[in-house]
Amino acid sequence: MNLEAACEVYRRLLLQYPVIDDRRHFIEFHNPFESLILTILSAQTTDRSVNAIRDALFARYPTPGALARADPEEVEPLIHSIGFHHAKARYIVGTARKLVADFGGEVPRTMEELQSLPGVGRKTANIVLSHAFGINVGIAVDTHVRRVSKRIGFTGSTNPDIIERDLVALFPEEAWRDINYLLIRHGRAICTAQNPKHEECLVADLCRYYREMKAGEK
Ligand code: SF4
Repeated sequence: MNLEAACEVYRRLLLQYPVIDDRRHFIEFHNPFESLILTILSAQTTDRSVNAIRDALFARYPTPGALARADPEEVEPLIHSIGFHHAKARYIVGTARKLVADFGGEVPRTMEELQSLPGVGRKTANIVLSHAFGINVGIAVDTHVRRVSKRIGFTGSTNPDIIERDLVALFPEEAWRDINYLLIRHGRAICTAQNPKHEECLVADLCRYYREMKAGEK
């Protein structure tokens, strides 16, 4: 897809899903520590389930220091409902311990430092940088971003690293912070994994998947 078409998709999606009060996050947090821990916990589950365990988790462990002192087994019951609680408890306690040991109890602000934390990959680091600090060095590629990007034709790949590379090459830097938000909104509302609502889609005329589907019907 060329820049002009990509920017037209972006413009239409922004009209459909306007950013209100500068909110582009789906997980509720009060500070970078909460953003980091909840984003780690959000792997393989829904934002809603993560939001549901937030209050109890941070009432018990409100700071990196408090979580660093915990035994992962004590944390497990608080996050049991989100799945993979055994591994996730170890990730978040390990992350808290590294925050205390290596970063003065603060969440670091670089991709490299964030990715040195247990359970933090490029997607999580991109989300925390963008949402907690307003720093956009890339675009987080989750399941919605991956599916919608491939269908529309922003990328030909299903590999998250390549998709991110294609997205940052395609869009101007000032759009990066919106792309993750817009593609997630569109992927949840219209371009769903099963039975996407092509007839309701406002970018259908620009979409590769739709074009190829129509060509196949002829
Ligand atoms: S036309 Fe269909 S496949 Fe393309 S973006 Fe819209 S809903 Fe998704």
